[in-house]
Amino acid sequence: MTTGPLRKIVIVGGGSAGWMAAAAAATTLRGREVTVVESEEIGIIGVGEAAFPSIRAFNQLLRIGEADFLRATRGSYKLGIHFADWQRPGQGYFHTFGEFFPLEGSMSVWGQYRRHAEALGCDMGELNMATLMAMQGRFAVPQVPNGQEAPFNYAYHFDAQLYAAYLRRLAEQRGARRVEGRIVDVQRRPDGGVAQLRLADGRTVDGDFFFDCSGFASLLTGKTLGVPFVDESHWLPVDRAWAVPVKRQDGPLLPYTRSTALEAGWSWRIPLQDRTGYGHVFSSRFIDEERAREQLLAQLDGEPLAEPRLLRFTTGYRQTHWLHNVAAVGLAGGFLEPLESTAIYLVQATLARVMPLLDQSAPPTAEALEAFNNTQLRQYQRIRDFIVLHYCLSERRDSEFWRAMTSMPLPDSLAYKIRAWRELGILQVFDNEGFDANSWLSIHAGMGHWPEHTSPWLDEVPPAFALDYLKHRRAAIADVVQRIPAHGDFLRRVTG
Ligand SMILES: Cc1cc2nc3c(=O)[nH]c(=O)nc-3n(C[C@H](O)[C@H](O)[C@H](O)COP(=O)(O)OP(=O)(O)OC[C@H]3O[C@@H](n4cnc5c(N)ncnc54)[C@H](O)[C@@H]3O)c2cc1C
Repeated sequence: MTTGPLRKIVIVGGGSAGWMAAAAAATTLRGREVTVVESEEIGIIGVGEAAFPSIRAFNQLLRIGEADFLRATRGSYKLGIHFADWQRPGQGYFHTFGEFFPLEGSMSVWGQYRRHAEALGCDMGELNMATLMAMQGRFAVPQVPNGQEAPFNYAYHFDAQLYAAYLRRLAEQRGARRVEGRIVDVQRRPDGGVAQLRLADGRTVDGDFFFDCSGFASLLTGKTLGVPFVDESHWLPVDRAWAVPVKRQDGPLLPYTRSTALEAGWSWRIPLQDRTGYGHVFSSRFIDEERAREQLLAQLDGEPLAEPRLLRFTTGYRQTHWLHNVAAVGLAGGFLEPLESTAIYLVQATLARVMPLLDQSAPPTAEALEAFNNTQLRQYQRIRDFIVLHYCLSERRDSEFWRAMTSMPLPDSLAYKIRAWRELGILQVFDNEGFDANSWLSIHAGMGHWPEHTSPWLDEVPPAFALDYLKHRRAAIADVVQRIPAHGDFLRRVTG
């Protein structure tokens, strides 16, 4: 690592990760030169249309208004995901960004939730405002006085190509420079870091610090620096996706993504303003590509606007995310299947950790880098666990894929959390999880997985009190939600 400020920032790649990094660097790093090198010939992955609520904080940081963003990306609002057929065919549940009962200090109530919800005779979703809105196809941005917490969080669906183009315009307006060309060689510094990129036409680009946003190629982190890839496909064996856009049909615009479990994977349905994105994520160990393509086409609710496109990937991540003067962001750093739309979230979380380390008069210390790298790995592993949870709790045994997914040994970290829930009624959530206890409860409850006991160490909320509280909560939520407009109407009002 050089000493002194890192003045020349070079971003390799112009996909969503590259332009997110460029827009963030051009907006938040003072007095730097920001250059993006991208190759139109190679292109971008161009999928990734469902986000996580972090996108709102990221847009705010970049001073992007919500209406402007939704107009530019033909986007819609997302309250969460509906999981169809995951527990067993015919069954479904929601995982939204909403909250259940406020439970600080009384986690046992979550273990008791089924008993209380059953006594009330209601669906768990009726106790979560975002879920009830999703069930009824409604949406409105929560209006809360300053300083108060909103009753739910939300994200967006958007066109990934338009988002990258939007961020590019914004980054260029704020001073980022774009260089078009294919990188064919990388010059190293004596300390092992990267000094210079050489393009196919002979031009060179040198820098003090490099963001590796080169997608699955992982040009700097993987190929140049030789950072090993940690393959996690033994836990998450899906490795292919067919993706296709479909003309939007008349009818309500749903404020959520739908994920439907299939024979050897699952399909996504992402509603945008003018089209619906469909995809089938599957494991090539359990189904061939042609049959997977047919299964995708059988799901469509309208006319395809293009031929389905096949994408290949391996679940896993780089062992180190920042080495010498290179930080990997986006697919160059790793990829976990898109079940919970976490890739763009991981880009934003990584940038939120990298930028403050760059915005200093000297490069970060070895200790700071070690802490950064440990946090990155932990976050990938915790999200991996959360995704595996969706599979391992399933009651499906109707295909070889599902038999494998429900009988495999689990990562120790996940096995521990499942035990804590099953045996004690405790939802163990650590730092850098990405998903909070509400999310874990949504999956456990949605999959019908309830504690066998609750720990005597946890205070039991008196049943009469809990029941009364939940009864009022359900009535209050129902009252507010029936006054909220249909998602499509609200979106039209915002985008004009
Ligand atoms: C099937 C699938 C579904 C997904 N769904 C979601 C989702 O719903 N939500 C979500 O958050 N994420 C999703 N993702 C992930 C999301 O698409 C990516 O995280 C996001 O688009 C960022 O990609 P990227 O910028 O890292 O890579 P890319 O878009 O691949 O960009 C790589 C860039 O590097 C450049 N490049 C590479 N090599 C060279 C070279 N030699 N010279 C010059 N330039 C080079 C390319 O030209 C390109 O500009 C999905 C991914 C897949 C595969």
